[in-house]
Amino acid sequence: MEVKFSARSAEQLKIPPASMSGVIFGTVFSDHMFCMEWEEGKGWHNAEIKPYGPLMLEPSSMVLHYAQMSFEGLKAYQTDSGEHVLFRPRENFKRMNRTSLRMCLPELDIEEVLTTLKKLLRLDSGWVPYEAGTSLYIRPTILATEEAIGLKVSSKYLFFIILSPVGPYYPQGFNPVKIMVSEKYVRAVPGGVGYAKTGGNYAASILAEKEAKELGYTQVLWLDAVERRYIEEVGSMNIFFLINEEIVTPQLTGSILPGITRMSVLELGKHWGLKVSERRVSIDEILKGLKDGSVTEIFGSGTAAVISPVGVLSYKGEECQVGNGETGPITSRFYEQLTGIQYGKVADPFDWVESI
Ligand SMILES: *Cc1c(COP(=O)(O)O)cnc(C)c1O
Repeated sequence: MEVKFSARSAEQLKIPPASMSGVIFGTVFSDHMFCMEWEEGKGWHNAEIKPYGPLMLEPSSMVLHYAQMSFEGLKAYQTDSGEHVLFRPRENFKRMNRTSLRMCLPELDIEEVLTTLKKLLRLDSGWVPYEAGTSLYIRPTILATEEAIGLKVSSKYLFFIILSPVGPYYPQGFNPVKIMVSEKYVRAVPGGVGYAKTGGNYAASILAEKEAKELGYTQVLWLDAVERRYIEEVGSMNIFFLINEEIVTPQLTGSILPGITRMSVLELGKHWGLKVSERRVSIDEILKGLKDGSVTEIFGSGTAAVISPVGVLSYKGEECQVGNGETGPITSRFYEQLTGIQYGKVADPFDWVESI
């Protein structure tokens, strides 16, 4: 793939924030972006690394009306030795291709896109922050751009990657959060698009999160849409339970997003010799387990926060504390090990990190 290249001139280059403290997640962007277009009969073309800036889209562009799109989220980290690395980036582009199949979007050539992403990252390497817990968030996106408002599969698409330096997810530290079980709303349905990273899933979730926040909770716990019994995810993270010393997470049924952090937790747990299982987990099993002491830890997993301990679950107006309300030892161990691998502080037994 030929990639055109137009960099900002020295005078146009912006200055990355001197410190990431106080920078709100996803509000600052680097100097450059990668764009390419797709058209029926032509495939991907017009690949270009160019200055970050507004897109030219007609108001009739299909994605603005019917949300035919997919996105991804991954990070570049500066390790303790000063090297810049990615964490399992191929998994993100594989997942993007799976989302694309469901959303009728064109697939990407994973190796070509990864090579170009690395070029972009080398060009904007000054934007990878280096303070503890910071990273450069990478957002690949595909949009349907045909200029027509009749509902059909678009014949034109735009792919882009933008880069955003981000601070630690928990500037106040790694503390358990309060979660409200959503009884009124569901995130995804069988046969729907829950497993796809596509905008509509998030648009549909924000009212539930707004209402939970108004009641003093950080996120909602999503139950399955049919029986409203089986646990699926927490906010936009996967969820894990420590039940009788076993790591348990809901099995992937099509309405759960297959997280790369989720997959890494399962692989690490096995590597440590812990019992891990993917199965259906009901809210009743968890509430009973919290009361009788068999459920000792609960945490969420995702790229943004890596691991997020849950301290309280609220269901049907009743609050239930997890353990003593503090971060449990297994939760901390996963957090320390995963971030340790990402920042090059500990050995990487699976070769998950890859240099840029
Ligand atoms: C992105 C996402 C996750 C986490 O996936 P990671 O690959 O671990 O970042 C989990 N659930 C939802 C709904 C997501 O969008």
